[in-house]
Amino acid sequence: MLSELTLSHSKGVKMRAYEIIAKKRDNFPLSYEEINFMIQGFVEGKIPDYQMAAFLMAVFIRGLSLEELVNLTSSMVSSGKTIDLTLVKGVKVDKHSTGGIGDKTTLVVAPLVASCGLKVAKLTGRALGHTGGTIDKLHSIPGLRTDLSTEEFINQVNQIGIALSEATEDIAPADKKIYSLRDLTATVSSIPLIASSVMSKKIAGGADKIVIDVKCGSGAFMKSLEEAEELAQILVLIGKKMERETHALITNMDEPLGKGVGNALEVKEAIETLKGKGPPDLTQLSLQIASEMLILGGIASNQEEAQDILTQNIITGKAIKKLEEMIKFQNGDPEVVKFPEKLPTASLISEFPASEEGYLTTIDAEKVGWIVHDLGAGRKKKEDKIDYSVGLVFHKKVGDYLKKGDLIAEIHANTYESLDLADTRLGEAIVISSHKPAPKPLVYKIIK
Ligand code: URA
Repeated sequence: MLSELTLSHSKGVKMRAYEIIAKKRDNFPLSYEEINFMIQGFVEGKIPDYQMAAFLMAVFIRGLSLEELVNLTSSMVSSGKTIDLTLVKGVKVDKHSTGGIGDKTTLVVAPLVASCGLKVAKLTGRALGHTGGTIDKLHSIPGLRTDLSTEEFINQVNQIGIALSEATEDIAPADKKIYSLRDLTATVSSIPLIASSVMSKKIAGGADKIVIDVKCGSGAFMKSLEEAEELAQILVLIGKKMERETHALITNMDEPLGKGVGNALEVKEAIETLKGKGPPDLTQLSLQIASEMLILGGIASNQEEAQDILTQNIITGKAIKKLEEMIKFQNGDPEVVKFPEKLPTASLISEFPASEEGYLTTIDAEKVGWIVHDLGAGRKKKEDKIDYSVGLVFHKKVGDYLKKGDLIAEIHANTYESLDLADTRLGEAIVISSHKPAPKPLVYKIIK
């Protein structure tokens, strides 16, 4: 029987999944062999979903020590193949976000950093739940390929300093399989499970140094600053233990980042930001993340110095040229950079005005994420086709004073039915009141 599965490890000791689950349930520490037995057994289909689900719940409730976490992360890395970036000269600095709404920073940061001479070899993913994915955003650029072979990926980085490609099934396959189960078993928002998920992918992707944007707030997995800080500290510690220096920024995700939410709308905004015409919050966050990458890559010694270099590359057009070059190399239509109207556009655009006078106190990021997902920008099933053109564009930010009738947002849709539904649900995501909300920082903390 599967539940009675026993295996011998290298020391010849028999192990059973049942006993390992019970050990974690009772708060005893697990060895590398025990953790690896669960992970490899699950990936190979020898440990069934119900035992892995119980194990994940035990980890969710009991947590993991740093040693267990490092062991879990390395076991997840070794569940698949790792990208050997030693053929790429220079320091390879990667960037990851724990997931947000309107978070198109990779599209800004990657070309921006590459334009300063750092090598950006980035494997990236599709949307998770209500949060968007860089791969889906990139696919809104006509013709653009994200299925580069390892050879193409490495050659491109050596030639132009940047490649954004989809993480294939064989990069940390344990993470993909475990994530699907976590999604169904209320174990997504577990700090050790998020930390091992993020770090296993980054380490398998071959980066030397890593910058992580830990999102915090209503639209993020980490709702409170305390939880976000704990996650950030753990990510930095795993990085240290695994010899991949890691910096983590804790950033605000109470309202969507920038203006656009939806694939093509976000690409358009990233292009504007690289031309120096982006919204202030997206511009500031992109500069701060990119600065940490320059610091880790040895190009700058502090945020101020880094921001000067980056701003210069935006002003001189080097940053947007790097994006154009990358699009060209990956078979996309580079004209979208000059003519963003060549990106997919929705057939229906309607306005969402303020229903009363007062301060805009809330734009619930998670609700916005689901509205855009249901307009067609996300998948309900793995096989679903994405509508790249749909989404929302916000013309106001939290804290703005509104007169009745002021334009808060535009809804971009392709059917009247989805448009009406989005309009109703947007009404539930937005709060206007007579009290000015206290301003919140965009970046709470940088942990190194
Ligand atoms: N992002 C990841 O990569 N993994 C998680 O578990 C959550 C967010």
